[in-house]
Amino acid sequence: MSVPISYPKDTVVSFTKDEIMFRESVREFAQKHIAPKWIEVDEEASKDPMKIPLDLIKKIADQGLLCIPCSDKYGGQGGTYTMATIAVEELAYADPAVALAVYTLLNNGWPFALQLFGREEISQEVIPRVSKGEAFFGIASTEPQGGSDVAGIRMTAKKINNVYVFNGEKAYISGVGEVQVLPWGGGWFLIARTGEAGHRGLSAFAFLAKKNGVIGKGWYPTIYHDIGRHGLTTGGFKCENFELDKDYLIGEENKGFYYVMEGFNLARILVAAATVGGARWVT
Ligand SMILES: Cc1cc2nc3c(=O)[nH]c(=O)nc-3n(C[C@H](O)[C@H](O)[C@H](O)COP(=O)(O)OP(=O)(O)OC[C@H]3O[C@@H](n4cnc5c(N)ncnc54)[C@H](O)[C@@H]3O)c2cc1C
Repeated sequence: MSVPISYPKDTVVSFTKDEIMFRESVREFAQKHIAPKWIEVDEEASKDPMKIPLDLIKKIADQGLLCIPCSDKYGGQGGTYTMATIAVEELAYADPAVALAVYTLLNNGWPFALQLFGREEISQEVIPRVSKGEAFFGIASTEPQGGSDVAGIRMTAKKINNVYVFNGEKAYISGVGEVQVLPWGGGWFLIARTGEAGHRGLSAFAFLAKKNGVIGKGWYPTIYHDIGRHGLTTGGFKCENFELDKDYLIGEENKGFYYVMEGFNLARILVAAATVGGARWVT
């Protein structure tokens, strides 16, 4: 099925031939597999947020729509960031609840940020699993006291020998259920305090709450019952002496604020694409 796109008449949007063909293929996929299912997904997950549409996540992965901008060296698709925005827009057009579009945007933007700033071995461990739909990798910044004030993050990560030990709480984090039910697991590009107060004391981590199917000790998740976006969970988690190998530090210690701001810049473009897709749905 081919769906015409109409942008406001003064908008200048130009895509390459490859990107136009890519959009056609994603649209066909999304209209065939996602559009007929989104109401069922929305209704089921509104009753039980853990009714996660694993079959559709697998289909999205098999279609090559996760980790699009990540290098094929790390099991990514070796595509462009523009292609990721196209994929997210078309998925949101097929799923106005945007659960699957946001699943897709998180698992494009944050694995890409990991590739940009993290250690090569960690990208090699995480990205192929996310790409295949076996693991989730999003962002864990927000805490119970607030989300906008990133510099005020309170979760601590204390380095003891070869591990960082995490204590504190994250709130309103997407993917808390998915990490638990996806076979490999996954986690988040997580920000925690390793140094002084303010933005210069924060570090970023590839925080894997579950890997190889095993949930780490000291990680205590909660799932929220939201009023919308059913089909992608939100929740919180507490860390009580949760240990992570030091190699999962992303970039340099106490530079996490700068990495996460770059990550937010990447993510914002994809969020905008999801809103464009949702807006097209109402036309
Ligand atoms: C469905 C959903 C999914 C989410 N998923 C994630 C996720 O995966 N990972 C994650 O880390 N977070 C996630 N969040 C949290 C989200 O990022 C935060 O809601 C956001 O950062 C805002 O934080 P807050 O809600 O605590 O509001 P606050 O930061 O408390 O802000 C409240 C209000 O005050 C305003 N405000 C704040 N500071 C100032 C200021 N200095 N000057 C003027 N006005 C100000 C804000 O604009 C806002 O209107 C999610 C939220 C939702 C709703």
